[in-house]
Amino acid sequence: MKISKSAVFLTALILLTSSVSCSSSQETELSETGLFAMDTYMTLKANGKNADSALKKAENRIRELESELSVTDENSDIAKLNRSGGQGATLSDDAAALISAGIEYGKLTSGALDITVYPVLAEWGFTTGEYHIPDKSKLDELLEYVDYSRIEVDGSNVTLPEKSMIDLGALAKGYTGDEIIKILRENGADSAVISLGGNVQTLGSKPDGSDWRIGVKDPFSPDRDFCVLSVCNKAVVTSGNYERCFTGDDGKVYWHIIDPADGRPADNGLVSVTIIAESGLMCDALSTSLFIMGTDKAVDYWKMHGDFDMILVTDDSSVLYTEGLSDSFENTGGMPAEVISND
Ligand code: ADP
Ligand code: MG
Repeated sequence: MKISKSAVFLTALILLTSSVSCSSSQETELSETGLFAMDTYMTLKANGKNADSALKKAENRIRELESELSVTDENSDIAKLNRSGGQGATLSDDAAALISAGIEYGKLTSGALDITVYPVLAEWGFTTGEYHIPDKSKLDELLEYVDYSRIEVDGSNVTLPEKSMIDLGALAKGYTGDEIIKILRENGADSAVISLGGNVQTLGSKPDGSDWRIGVKDPFSPDRDFCVLSVCNKAVVTSGNYERCFTGDDGKVYWHIIDPADGRPADNGLVSVTIIAESGLMCDALSTSLFIMGTDKAVDYWKMHGDFDMILVTDDSSVLYTEGLSDSFENTGGMPAEVISND
């Protein structure tokens, strides 16, 4: 396995959020809260004597991260940076750390993940809901400003080239999930499950000691699941082409995951990618990136890195899942499913 400097940086960030073993808990009750934040409905459930106050702290942290990271909130750190016109801005530790992580995942994924894709995303209307299909010449012009390698980070000072803009939408919920799990653990919970839109993260096992059972949406009928996973201490994050999409004047469907190679919705044979690992940040980054790469490159990436599991659903309705899931993957939707092994 190839170990790069990027991998070392990310491992340090990821280790901050790991490692509790699955164990049976004496608590049987889970306290619960729900909120709307980061453009999605979130539910948080945790056990423990102080669960209610832990959930309150987690909720406050979500609000804090949203106010720092939201690209559409004009008071956020990211909006401030995007307005800075090449002058740079001093950001919160969270925003600076997440931008650094975004740059590292840009390198690791050979630019499939590019947190400067925002001008292209906005042109398609994914930021406002006023959708349209841009001309190729417009996309080529905007792609001039898309290049994560030109972001400069010096501590909490970040500088972008003029006209470049950042959007952390591919990473923010994963980072937030890791932060919430940490808060819940530090406040005495040893059993928790949180759902932030398509991102599910678990702490320990269920209060009765059994695994959490997490359903993954069928991308062809998102109101039902195509499989169920048994997990503990894991994040399960899905990126799919059905999450935010519109039908263009040409009758084709366009979605919000953009291939930085051509500025168009990534259409490389996959309709959904689910990543399973301890780090929510890693899962979020890779679910978006591997969706963009398509099946062959996603499988190559997994074989080279191997520190996560994944489930790919192809546009011709077949399922591929990595061998580490053999005992936890239950096929409930009936699509043909095949195991990928690293040999
Ligand atoms: P969701 O936000 O629906 O859970 P993802 O985690 O896959 O889904 O993130 C999609 C979001 O990531 C988009 O809404 C956009 O903000 C951002 N994005 C889209 N394409 C890219 C890309 N190539 N690199 C980085 N971010 C992207
Ligand atoms: Mg993502």
